[in-house]
Amino acid sequence: MSDYDIVVVGGGPGGYVCAIRAAQLGLRAACVEGRSTLGGTCLNVGCIPSKALLHASHMYHESRQNFEKMGLKPGAKSFDWKQMLAYKDGAINDNTRGIEFLFKKNKVDWIKGWARVRSAGKVAVGDRVVETRDIVVATGSEPTPLRGVEVDEQVIVTSTGALALSNIPKSIVVIGAGVIGLELGSVFARLGSEVTVLEYLEHALPEMDGEISKNARRFLARQGLKFKMGAEVLSVERKGNKAEVKFKLRKDGSEHDMAASTVLVATGRRPVVGGFGLEEAGIEFAENGAIKTDSRLSTNVKGIWAIGDATEGPMLAHKAEDEGIAAAELIAGNAGHVNYQVIPSVVYTHPEVAMVGCTEEQLKQEGKDYVSGKFSFMGNGRAKAVFASSGFVKILADKNTDRVLGCHVIGPSAGELIHEICVAMEFGAAAEDLALTCHAHPTFSEAMREAALACGDGAIHA
Ligand code: NAD
Repeated sequence: MSDYDIVVVGGGPGGYVCAIRAAQLGLRAACVEGRSTLGGTCLNVGCIPSKALLHASHMYHESRQNFEKMGLKPGAKSFDWKQMLAYKDGAINDNTRGIEFLFKKNKVDWIKGWARVRSAGKVAVGDRVVETRDIVVATGSEPTPLRGVEVDEQVIVTSTGALALSNIPKSIVVIGAGVIGLELGSVFARLGSEVTVLEYLEHALPEMDGEISKNARRFLARQGLKFKMGAEVLSVERKGNKAEVKFKLRKDGSEHDMAASTVLVATGRRPVVGGFGLEEAGIEFAENGAIKTDSRLSTNVKGIWAIGDATEGPMLAHKAEDEGIAAAELIAGNAGHVNYQVIPSVVYTHPEVAMVGCTEEQLKQEGKDYVSGKFSFMGNGRAKAVFASSGFVKILADKNTDRVLGCHVIGPSAGELIHEICVAMEFGAAAEDLALTCHAHPTFSEAMREAALACGDGAIHA
């Protein structure tokens, strides 16, 4: 008999969730992870630490911006970066230890070390060869290197280095106005760095609805972030404790230099798929290097499955988690399914940005007849009372059937509000269903209902 029914390679959100669900379904499950803690990029050097720093820096900003207006004295006059980093490390620790606890509770074995897939049914970890019925590859992603740029994680950093800088840089050049660039750019701008974002395209957050990305950039510019759009980075060179960035403006071809204390490279991530036996095992890859899977998350090699960032699709922890659960169910012989049409996406800037479903640009391109219902947080009493009225909700619905096709929010708690629409879309709801649903007053979510009303006869508070 094999040692396990399922061995998951990688202990990030995709992998650990898959192993836990498999064990809950009665399978003998193990997870191989070589890092000293579980949780992968998300918990160790990604989502969780960045959210801790976003929270702390937002509190600092809020205390200086709004405390006095509310009669609160004194606001935080300064901050202790070392303590902020310690707080962030504490958040990481609490979360990674939590996964270890869940493994013990659910009887998942953590095999410590780096795995090598020998073939279907065999995974080597150091000198040990573990035999298993099924293998799930959940090895995640890593920052994509940028030509002409050598990252040292001190002056020229990826998000990993940015989350552990020894002090607040006087100036930062952020390469890439994507999710990482804007979230971490926000953190350092709030803490006093001069932040300049260089973006190759003409718009920030390229996956988002155009109107939202335009407003996100506008709000962030008001917070002090400077943007140079259409800027192609040619090289970054470390000079002592600084770096020099050369870039070209695409519109006129002019070349420019810029010096900065820190350069953050945030130009995307690539799947981690090389150097641990997949090619030798005969696994097929997609054009972008990701592992190819079918709709059941199986690779072309029977008994080897793949999930999360190592596969195609958006690189999001929650997409990986959903695939982890679906893979475990399928391996256990149950039904397992991920609805890729309803995967929300959130950017944790201030205000937050969130979306699900189609953007307006996609609907136009598909030639779809749609209505757009919009509502500004200026008309939301709760938002006005707490200095959070910047932003709006936009719901896109089919013009003929009224079915909700997408939703885009920039505003307070956007990352929480969006889930109302996820549930509505899972149930195939119409905008009118949302508009007829009673929403508690005073809440930010009233703005969602008002946007739904705006898809029909009109919002009340607009
Ligand atoms: P991204 O793909 O979101 O953005 C990268 C940006 O860099 C793009 O706008 C791109 O046009 C630009 N770019 C690329 N090459 C460039 C160059 N040479 N010069 C200037 N600009 C250039 O990538 P990211 O922000 O690095 O994030 C990586 C992944 O991690 C994404 O898939 C993201 O979804 C995920 N992530 C998600 C969250 C979240 O859900 N809140 C947070 C962090 C990261």
